[in-house]
Amino acid sequence: MTALVVLVRGVHSLLEPQAYQDLMEDSLLQGLTFLVSFVSLLGTGFGFVLASFERMAKQMEEMASLDGMTGCLNRSTTDALLAHSLERGRRDGAPVAFALFDLDHFKLINDRHGHRAGDDALRAVVRVVKARLRGADVLGRMGGEEFGLILPGTDAPGAQRLVDDMRRSIEQLALRDDQGRALALTVSAGVAVAASNQKLGADRLFALADQALYRAKDAGRNCVMVWSEMPLPPARPEVDRA
Ligand code: GH3
Ligand code: MG
Ligand code: MG
Repeated sequence: MTALVVLVRGVHSLLEPQAYQDLMEDSLLQGLTFLVSFVSLLGTGFGFVLASFERMAKQMEEMASLDGMTGCLNRSTTDALLAHSLERGRRDGAPVAFALFDLDHFKLINDRHGHRAGDDALRAVVRVVKARLRGADVLGRMGGEEFGLILPGTDAPGAQRLVDDMRRSIEQLALRDDQGRALALTVSAGVAVAASNQKLGADRLFALADQALYRAKDAGRNCVMVWSEMPLPPARPEVDRA
């Protein structure tokens, strides 16, 4: 019925347009207002969708480069940043130090205090180390209970001092599990330094820091060793690595 009325009115308006002059002017104004509102609404909606997409893309990028549990960078991002720092160090004539931290007897801590307390301990270590970082330093979780620290523009004595300070702060953490039992947490660390005139790649620097870490474990744990040309103890079997 409504359609029929609209159709009849439509035909009539074509035959006698002057009878509909006022209505046409009003409708034109209303139409324009509607169009402007619609376009602004569309623009606002489009802007909102675009902002949401940008936010999502940023979150996804962060998720891809961060370790979800501790909030530090993940292994692949840290590896890439180490290679980048070494290149930059060579260009700027500055050394780059790399330290590997490994929590001592962490399996035992999990066994005694539970996995959740172990997770809390990992996060506590990250908090302590992050509190001491300078602007260009980078902390990454290399896997399990092992962390890598890139210290651009840092020589061996400087790196040893800083990493040993961190080690001491971790030793002094008064952690407790959810039953109130004290949790003794220590770390061992190995440090290797690339001088700017050395052509050390990221993999090689990592391997040297790992050898120094092995020495720290071998020396009784809870200490820092800096890599040097000392004879090495036998290679650490793969199964030892977390
Ligand atoms: P070492 O002093 O020689 O390093 O001994 P360790 O017990 O720390 O080394 P091991 O490699 O035998 O054990 C590492 C343990 O770390 C085993 C693994 O269950 C634990 N671990 C690895 N990742 C996590 C994690 O995300 N959370 C917790 N709670 N434990 C973890
Ligand atoms: Mg360990
Ligand atoms: Mg380990």
